[in-house]
Amino acid sequence: MARYIGPKCRKCRRYGVSLCGKAKCALQRRPSPPGPRSLRRRKVSDRGLQLIEKQKVRFAYGVMEGQFQRYYHRAALRPGVTGTNLMQMLEERLDNVVYRAGFASSRAQARQIVNHGLVAVDGRKLSIPSAHVRLGQEISLTDRGGHTEYAKILADAIRSRDVPGWIEIDRGALKARVAALPGPGDWEPHFNPNAVVEYYSR
Ligand code: ZN
Repeated sequence: MARYIGPKCRKCRRYGVSLCGKAKCALQRRPSPPGPRSLRRRKVSDRGLQLIEKQKVRFAYGVMEGQFQRYYHRAALRPGVTGTNLMQMLEERLDNVVYRAGFASSRAQARQIVNHGLVAVDGRKLSIPSAHVRLGQEISLTDRGGHTEYAKILADAIRSRDVPGWIEIDRGALKARVAALPGPGDWEPHFNPNAVVEYYSR
């Protein structure tokens, strides 16, 4: 599936917040927006600010515009707060669950290990990064994934990675279960789901 593959931290620098999910974000080194200096300062309208908030969320989860709009429309049809519904759907994507469980150091890396068939859901290989992980489902490495060099590195790296409360982790067995639904407070506080909803609902 198509996705943005340009230098990730260009987006981080454009929006002034780390969207790449990496420990070493270029934003720390170069906090100024990218591009020629003349383009860096602009006045932004309300509409422009909503667009910025939408792009921040979209780039962070690595979703293309068409799919992001489909998430929005589905979120709007569900009962409850549309912005919360939208964030919940993004959080429940397989690549994001893999990232949140500490199986990868960024969402981009999570997508890669899913694409390469290293991840199983309820014991069966699932190589679709956008797949929806449901409450109670368990992610682990596939047999093949468990025998990779990656699995060895991960077994060590995962010990120092924090996992949100909605994910139950067995670090020794490299298994993670969706024990609750993600809610407000489970995603980065710099996201503004209401502004994303305003962007699409006008
Ligand atoms: Zn970055």
